[in-house]
Amino acid sequence: MYHQASYDEPLLIEIKSLKNEDFEIDLNPDIVRKELNIPNLPEFEIIRHYTRLSQMNYGVDINIYPLGSCTMKYNPKLNEEIARMFSYIHPYQEESTVQGALQIMYELQEMLKEITDMDGFSLQPAAGAHGEFTGMLITRSYHEYKGEGEKRKNVILPDSAHGTNPASAAMVGFNVIEIPSNKEGMVDLEALENATDDTTAAFMITNPNTLGIFEEDILEIAKIMHKNGALLYYDGANLNAIMGITSPGKMNFDIVHLNLHKTFSTPHGGGGPGSGPVGVRGELVNFLPVPVVRYDGEKYYLDYNIKHTIGKVRSFYGNFGVLVKAWAYIKRLGGTGLKRASIRAVVNSNYLKEKIKDYYVLPYKNLRKHEFVVKPKNARALDVAKRLLDFGVHAPTIYFPLIVSEALMIEPTETERKENLDKFAEIVIHIAKEAEKNPELLKEAPHNTSVRRVDDVLASRKPVLTWKMYRELKARGEIDY
Ligand SMILES: *Cc1c(COP(=O)(O)O)cnc(C)c1O
Repeated sequence: MYHQASYDEPLLIEIKSLKNEDFEIDLNPDIVRKELNIPNLPEFEIIRHYTRLSQMNYGVDINIYPLGSCTMKYNPKLNEEIARMFSYIHPYQEESTVQGALQIMYELQEMLKEITDMDGFSLQPAAGAHGEFTGMLITRSYHEYKGEGEKRKNVILPDSAHGTNPASAAMVGFNVIEIPSNKEGMVDLEALENATDDTTAAFMITNPNTLGIFEEDILEIAKIMHKNGALLYYDGANLNAIMGITSPGKMNFDIVHLNLHKTFSTPHGGGGPGSGPVGVRGELVNFLPVPVVRYDGEKYYLDYNIKHTIGKVRSFYGNFGVLVKAWAYIKRLGGTGLKRASIRAVVNSNYLKEKIKDYYVLPYKNLRKHEFVVKPKNARALDVAKRLLDFGVHAPTIYFPLIVSEALMIEPTETERKENLDKFAEIVIHIAKEAEKNPELLKEAPHNTSVRRVDDVLASRKPVLTWKMYRELKARGEIDY
């Protein structure tokens, strides 16, 4: 009927009589297999569907992403391009054919040594938690080598620790001992002294801690550990508070992990790939995973010959693409640029804190580093977080660290400009006022996102991730949407 291309009466009548089936897409019945049971959709509708989904998503390419303890900063796209230049090489290639790649890994090890004041690095761990696990394996091997493996079974942590710290220590077989923070939000030295003895394997801490507060007694803390024969472990996931200003080495730490996917220019949040290199000091270099990359003055090579190595912690040599991005980022910024990034991260965080602190409760009074924690005066943290979404910005981390109830943990990062911080502060203050005048508005938020408040429990118990799952659960009456 379509080829009757005129505007006469009979055609109009025919158009009126068209049925839904007449619009069905013609799939070639000879090549479409019936048993596949897939939705019959044309390409353009699928493209529109996924483009729409991507628009419903949120990322740092859209707006500020102030998720505390996550460093969701903007990462230059150039570094992605540089990493992509290496996509054609394979880890099974002969060393002589991948000298450039090995050089990048070697130089990155050297640069990380300089940034942290450590003596050796492994680039293998694939995430922060994996770095902690590696550091704890090194701790265990070190004490075993000293003949104290049986005795040193305890790892001490402050109650403000990131959740991965106790998990990593426990996975290596250590008992975890938690000590309380003092009223300044820092490690309570007396509690630490009392908890430490010859059964202590290590103290794990991040500095600045998860409240964004710098542990001023860190040298004293190191002394307590070292005089008891224990190691001091630095969780350096968010190094943008101190880069170029101080270092784990200057604070007398023995082991450190860094999150390249936070501080050193790899976008993250979707589950990887990440990279959590581990640096160590002094004789601990003899315990690093194999291989490490070395340079003999002529060529770069993989060294498997490390005296007391804990072995391998990952296939091949780490997430190479992430290493390239970190290398490119550090090369481009240089020492001065890294230091400026840290200063900016700290200035941004304190600026934002000062702007909003009269409208929220600010526990602890010290200056903050790259992040800070507040709590709402008249609302739950969850409701403030949900209401923020209505204004097109991402929420901060909530309910962490655990020592502040109803915590909103805000990390604006170094990449946001003043006007973005001002805009964010304005929204956060607006919500504080709403909480007073119209609390229902917060409790029912978000009001104008694609998906309203989700049922977290249902989402984890019955995740519906595909169209097929949706159809089956719907047919069984297990979901009603
Ligand atoms: C993010 C983070 C970690 C864990 O890093 P992952 O790469 O997510 O495993 C550990 N400690 C601190 C302080 C962090 O912010």
